[in-house]
Amino acid sequence: MRTGYCLNDNHVGHTLSGHPEHAGRLQRIQQRMQESGLTETLIRVPTAAATREQLRRVHTDEHINHVHAMSYREGYLDPDTYVRDGSWEAALHAAGGLIALVGEVAAGRLDNGFALVRPPGHHAEADRAMGFCLFNNVAVAARAAQVEHGLERVLIVDWDVHHGNGTQHIFYTDPTVMYFSTHQYPYYPGTGAKEERGAGPGEGTTVNVPFPGGVGDEDYILAFERLLAPLARRFRPDLILVSAGYDPHWRDPLAAMEVTLSGFARLTEILLALADELCNGRIVFTLEGGYDLEALAYGVTNTLFLLSGHPEKVTDPLGPGPMAVRRVPGLIDELCALWGV
Ligand SMILES: [Zn+2]
Repeated sequence: MRTGYCLNDNHVGHTLSGHPEHAGRLQRIQQRMQESGLTETLIRVPTAAATREQLRRVHTDEHINHVHAMSYREGYLDPDTYVRDGSWEAALHAAGGLIALVGEVAAGRLDNGFALVRPPGHHAEADRAMGFCLFNNVAVAARAAQVEHGLERVLIVDWDVHHGNGTQHIFYTDPTVMYFSTHQYPYYPGTGAKEERGAGPGEGTTVNVPFPGGVGDEDYILAFERLLAPLARRFRPDLILVSAGYDPHWRDPLAAMEVTLSGFARLTEILLALADELCNGRIVFTLEGGYDLEALAYGVTNTLFLLSGHPEKVTDPLGPGPMAVRRVPGLIDELCALWGV
C-alpha cells in the first residue's frame, strides 16, 4: 500500500499549557511513529496553508477575518477555544494538510492517508469557532475533493466521542455529503439526536448514533456493521473521510466511553473494507480529539498499520478498562428500523 500522512508543520505555535488540546498531542504521536518504524515506511506529504478560496467554500468571510484578527491578539473565541500568535498559521495548515493528502489520494499517487493535524475541526461552524476548533478541516477537504478533484459524493464518518455539530450543519441540506457520527449523548456539544437526519434535498444523509456513556467496542462495531455499512452502500461514496478522535477510549479524561485500542482497530478494518468495496480504497483519516496521550499515540499508529496493510503490527498495551461495559442492543435495533436497514 502507498499510505501517506502529513504532520502539521505549523502546529506548535498553537498551544496553551494546561489546556487538553496542546502541542504535546502531536509530539507524542510523532515519537510513537518513530519508535514503531512507521516514519520510515510511510510517505510524508508536506502541509500547505489552505487558501481563502478553499476556506470560503465552507466558512463565512466574517469568520475567517475574525480568526485572523484574534490570532494576533491572543484570547478565546469561545469558553474552550483559545487563539495565540501561531494559531492562524496552525489552522491554515491543519485544513491545508488534509486537503493536500486528499489531493494525493484523489490523483491516485497514494492509496490512503492520515492527516495528523491540530487544531481539530469538527465543531467549527460555518460562521464561528467552537470546541477547540477554528476551521472545519474535514468539511473544507470534502469540498476540495468535490470542486478540485471531481469526487462527487463524500462520506464523512466521525467516531470522535463528541458530536461533530459543525460538520453536520455545514452539510445538513446537501445530498452529496453523507455525515455519519457515533458519539456520547447527551453530552457536549448537545447536538446529534437520532431524529437529526438532514433536511430538504439532504434529508437522509445525516446519520446520528447517540450512545449513552459506558458503551464499548461491541456496540460501536454493531453500529458500523449493521447501520453504517448498508447506508454507505446505499449512498455510494467516491471518497470516505474519517474524523478520527481517540477520545471514546476508556482512558480519555474528557469522556465516559469504554472503547479499547482493539476496538478502534476493528472499526478501522470495517472502514477500509467499505472503501475497497465502494470507492477504490480511497479513504483519508484526519485527527480530531483524543486527550489521553498513550491511547492517542497507539490509536493513531494502529490505524496507520492497518492503512498500510500491516494488521499483525496492531497492539493494545492498554487493554480493556476497569469499568463494566454498557450494552445497548435496543438502540441499534431502533436505529436500524428508523433507517430501514
Ligand atoms: Zn472529541
